[in-house]
Amino acid sequence: MNAAHHHDAPKLSRNQSEILSCLRNSGEPLSAYAILDRVRKSGISHPPTVYRALNDLMKKGMVHRLESRSAFVACGHGACDGKFAFAICRACDKVVEILLADKDQALLLGLAPDEISPEQVTVEIAGLCNDCHPSRLA
Ligand SMILES: [Zn+2]
Ligand SMILES: [Zn+2]
Repeated sequence: MNAAHHHDAPKLSRNQSEILSCLRNSGEPLSAYAILDRVRKSGISHPPTVYRALNDLMKKGMVHRLESRSAFVACGHGACDGKFAFAICRACDKVVEILLADKDQALLLGLAPDEISPEQVTVEIAGLCNDCHPSRLA
């Protein structure tokens, strides 16, 4: 946990805090509509409100989007700077965030062909977590 990022937390709007705690409590990736369902009781009832708060939280590095599922997760480290990858259990949807070192990020961006100038890389590794792996079942 980065102490500097930790001090950013109080600057969140009420909607942003509601949505962030919803994601932190869920333990699984949530679509924007699943988030909307869960925050409705706190008075957030419009999809654009949810999308705006999600976008702001993503800019702050506190929420990330799982591209493969069009779903959102709370940052596994409180907040981070955009260099991350995910490992996802395909059976239970457990998501583990992996921080990428600068050299890992550079290596991945370096795979882009000449006709595309790379801006961003998305890495999602699918597999089975320890709980779901058949060898762990009694
Ligand atoms: Zn993160
Ligand atoms: Zn699993």
